[in-house]
Amino acid sequence: RPTIGVLALQGDVREHFSALVECGADPVGVRRVSELDRIDGLVIPGGESTTISRLLSVFELLEPLRERFRDGLPGLGSCAGMIMLASKVLDTRPDAQHLDAIDMTVRRNAFGRQVDSFETDLEFAGIAGGPMRAVFIRAPWVEEAGDDVEVLARVPHGPAAGRIVAVRQSKVIATSFHPEVTGDLRVHQLFVDTVRRD
Ligand code: GLN
Repeated sequence: RPTIGVLALQGDVREHFSALVECGADPVGVRRVSELDRIDGLVIPGGESTTISRLLSVFELLEPLRERFRDGLPGLGSCAGMIMLASKVLDTRPDAQHLDAIDMTVRRNAFGRQVDSFETDLEFAGIAGGPMRAVFIRAPWVEEAGDDVEVLARVPHGPAAGRIVAVRQSKVIATSFHPEVTGDLRVHQLFVDTVRRD
């Protein structure tokens, strides 16, 4: 079983733990640099990206994590986790820091106040078994994706139709929505399989 870290500074850590266990991985909480040595991949949960950013600095994890991702550590980020994996973030605090693991510009709280939180069914590239229920909670979207970034899902309809909400660059996957809250394990399974093959 691969050992997969879940960044446990803030956010919905527990939901990712359960999903990883069900997908055949051994999750471990990550709060300090020494814990990075034993992980085969890292999940960054949903929560509040500016808080996670601040805590990454406090716990001196920012540079070590950037380095691990540069060296090819597989990653999965949902919502705030997507924001943390970005190379550039719009509508965040001026001092917020990010991990540069995916060449993309992400807009924080992109869906606006009216549609703060919503659910929809979407197609997810490379995942079989029919549409996936996606839960968005004050979610970001990907405003711009670099040439090496594969778009995995877009908003299917409504005012935000066509917006990019799931991407992958090499072994790092990010979703605007929360696959950890629906009981649909396909995104976590894709990630665990990615880590296994690594
Ligand atoms: N709006 C949050 C942020 O900016 C993300 C929300 C979430 O993770 N559900 O970090």
